[in-house]
Amino acid sequence: MVVQITVQIGDQEVQWQKTLEGTPAEREEAGHGVGREVARVINEAALTEAAGEVRRPCCWGRRMENRGCRAITLRGLNGPMRIKRTRDRCRNCGRECLPADSLLECGRHRITRPLAKRVCQLATVESFDSGSVFCLAGPSVAQQ
Ligand SMILES: [Zn+2]
Repeated sequence: MVVQITVQIGDQEVQWQKTLEGTPAEREEAGHGVGREVARVINEAALTEAAGEVRRPCCWGRRMENRGCRAITLRGLNGPMRIKRTRDRCRNCGRECLPADSLLECGRHRITRPLAKRVCQLATVESFDSGSVFCLAGPSVAQQ
């Protein structure tokens, strides 16, 4: 069976086409994977938009100047997301910062707050082993 999904995200249209085949279990897994990918792309766009709404910080009483964008890979509920955020620099002291990071990341970790919350909730109900994290967030988080 061929599944085709079209999603309008802002002024961008994103399409997916996936063939679900194999055993019933394989088809169910493939269908779940399509849903996760759609959610991941929507979240990536939403977090990129939120990163662009952050006000430029001040230093020495003046707004810091925009020094372009830098991309970061954050792991969220549905997998890794590539998010662009601005880098600002003070003209006086040379301090640089990425003001959106404190809103996007959980502490200094490259994971989103909802994912961190799920991991903590899971740790309260069962042993916190790599298998638990794997089920929740995928293999690359479990290896960290
Ligand atoms: Zn400064």
